[in-house]
Amino acid sequence: MDVPYGKTIRCGCGRIHEIEPREVYAGDAVARQAAQWAMWAADGERAVLVADRRTYEAAGRTVARALQEAAFAVDEIILSDGGPARPPVCDEATHAVVLDRLGEGANVVLAVGSGVISDVGKWAAFERGLPLITVATAASMNGYTSANVAPTIGGLKSLVRARPPRAVLADPRVIRDAPYELTTAGLGDALAKTTSATDWRLNHLLFGDYYCPASVALTDRIEPLYSDRPEALADREPAAIAALLEGLMLTGVAMTMAESSAPASGGEHMVSHTLDMLSSLDGHPHDLHGRQVGVGTILACELYRRVLAVESPELRAPAGDVDEAYWGPLAPACRKEYSRKLPRYEQAAKRIRTGSTWDDLRTELAAMVRPPERIRSCLERARGAVVAADVGCDRVRLLAALLHGHEARSRFTVLDLARMLGVMPGAAAEIVH
Ligand SMILES: [Zn+2]
Ligand SMILES: [Zn+2]
Repeated sequence: MDVPYGKTIRCGCGRIHEIEPREVYAGDAVARQAAQWAMWAADGERAVLVADRRTYEAAGRTVARALQEAAFAVDEIILSDGGPARPPVCDEATHAVVLDRLGEGANVVLAVGSGVISDVGKWAAFERGLPLITVATAASMNGYTSANVAPTIGGLKSLVRARPPRAVLADPRVIRDAPYELTTAGLGDALAKTTSATDWRLNHLLFGDYYCPASVALTDRIEPLYSDRPEALADREPAAIAALLEGLMLTGVAMTMAESSAPASGGEHMVSHTLDMLSSLDGHPHDLHGRQVGVGTILACELYRRVLAVESPELRAPAGDVDEAYWGPLAPACRKEYSRKLPRYEQAAKRIRTGSTWDDLRTELAAMVRPPERIRSCLERARGAVVAADVGCDRVRLLAALLHGHEARSRFTVLDLARMLGVMPGAAAEIVH
């Protein structure tokens, strides 16, 4: 499928997808394009530009200048950044700061940055009903083009539905020169698709949940261009980095088509979210989202391999409550999510016991999921993160995150299926390194 930015498509899945953003631009005229889009979108002359120190230097300053040349009054919000160890976070506090500044007669928001800046800008612009233009500064995650925001609210990794930007603009030189760990994070987030899309299909097969094959297929053409020769990313080859960025943009579109994060966020993401949540409890720093997600993807692929090898399932009911000692003050919030999932365990068991469901499911999912070695090798060759030590934690911490990840969200994933089949918790100690 050609990239349908700005189009309305009548899809084979039965839905009509309105594809935003209207444009994803990669080229060297980002500042001019940003000013142009701001003029089209804004209902007045006040622009608010959100960045952090690094992204302001990388692209924000030239965007601000172009906006001023286009007769905008520009209010710059440079989010506090305590150095590489303490980048800004997308939480209630940051949100409140940005929201407050947008209340002062703003007409358009420009988010110049990657994960956190893109999310903070999207969230605040949506709540104020303002148009958003995003200037991407790293190929680090798939959220630029999506409607979702993934903030931490009260220590819990949450999901807020907002609106995609009108346009996402990226200068390939800025993307290439971004700190390299951001690119390895983007690779991890892109590779997650193998397990997240499989989890989505699993939900379709077990519960009849909505599923759109066209959204899953969006990245098929582009994926080999960054995953077949991942060394090219480490060598900062422009074509490989451009392909990764395009793959990430398309993944965001897939989420918009699905009207949920399901095509891009499954059990592998739960491992990363749990590490993030644990950090909010004990202050131990976590790594970049996509680097943790890449490690989570290797683990989720390992689980799928073991789950799909089970010929005659002997089903057991997972625990009826979350591990209070592990979650501490986050236990009530996790319990709320987890209790919404409990009925699905019964539904899943009933379905798996019916007719040829289990055999059909095994055949279908085996065709979607990749072997863990393939994901590991891809990340290794790109000099990305593959084991606990690579994401700044020890094996015990990662093992605990794998064992508790299913308790933090209501989404049914391979982490849950592995519990039902008795693959987990036993396999966890074998696969975490
Ligand atoms: Zn569709
Ligand atoms: Zn992600």
